[in-house]
Amino acid sequence: MITIDGSQGEGGGQILRSALALSLVTGKPFCIENIRARRKKPGLMRQHLTAVNAAVEVGKAAVSGNSIGSSRITFAPTGLSSGQYHFAVGTAGSCTLVLQTVLPALIVADDPSEIVLEGGTHNAAAPPFDFLAGSFLPLLNQMGPSVKAALERPGFYPAGGGRIRVKITPSRKLTPLHLLQRGGIVDRSARAIVARLPYSIADREIAVVKEKLAWDADCLRSVEVPDSSGPGNALVITVASEQVTEIFTGFGESGVSAETVADRAVREAQEYLASDAPVGRHLADQLLLPLALAGAGSFRTLSPTAHTTTNIEVLRYFLDLDLKVKQQDEQTWLVSI
Ligand code: ATP
Repeated sequence: MITIDGSQGEGGGQILRSALALSLVTGKPFCIENIRARRKKPGLMRQHLTAVNAAVEVGKAAVSGNSIGSSRITFAPTGLSSGQYHFAVGTAGSCTLVLQTVLPALIVADDPSEIVLEGGTHNAAAPPFDFLAGSFLPLLNQMGPSVKAALERPGFYPAGGGRIRVKITPSRKLTPLHLLQRGGIVDRSARAIVARLPYSIADREIAVVKEKLAWDADCLRSVEVPDSSGPGNALVITVASEQVTEIFTGFGESGVSAETVADRAVREAQEYLASDAPVGRHLADQLLLPLALAGAGSFRTLSPTAHTTTNIEVLRYFLDLDLKVKQQDEQTWLVSI
């Protein structure tokens, strides 16, 4: 059995999710130890446990250690089943990260699936719904499958209560994706979302974008979302180019000013815009798995994060890959398989 050390590299939940995803696709059983050893509260938290249990359902897997706080699990899938699924995190934990776990297998399955996910939809340190639907899925869909995601209700930390519906038409074989150029910018926008919080928070974030990115007022919007279970705020900055759409998000946090939240997202966008890399940092670690499953592909990106380098190590446990990461110039790296 493959044995993975969950404390390696970045040492977080992504090692677990990628291992589950790869195990589902390859059918190879694995054991992971020291789960999330580099986090303040190591072991399985609610979001990770939901991901494990989701993978158990999708892969009709035998599992041990699937309980809150557990630092070791074994996982042995027996066969992939597409169909109707409902996965609820039960807290504000990210439901897009639960999707990240089962999506790779369901896009190469024999039959379509529909998944309803409940939990957080706009969480710090996780892909927000807008990034999933606007950046990641359009690229994944270029590889063959058709995956459509709809936000039925937003969910913010700490109340959660968000809901996403995802419809998947699989493609047994994935087409390699090559993203070497960004192409010209065709659209850009910033949307500051508030739920059950003063509208002025959104306006202050938009003011920062206006000042620092100097974008036209008609592409900047403050939006109040009425149907959230609890308060929340996110600033979503979108840069759509001919070949790729990148999305940079700032997440409202109690005790952090609207200006600081906006500034964080603006800095990420500025760094991306100052380079000519098509793929930003978050997209980079998330594209690795589909590219590896396609058996080929390439992209140019900014300097690789620990999430990216660690994800590459996890891929190597399951797949025999000739994956190279090479610096091209001061700002960009080429990742190729
Ligand atoms: P842990 O609680 O163990 O830190 P986790 O399970 O919450 O971990 P990570 O291992 O840190 O998750 O992985 C987070 C994932 O979310 C990565 O794939 C990362 O690229 C993605 N991500 C984080 N922030 C963003 C963002 N702003 N936009 C898009 N994706 C993001």
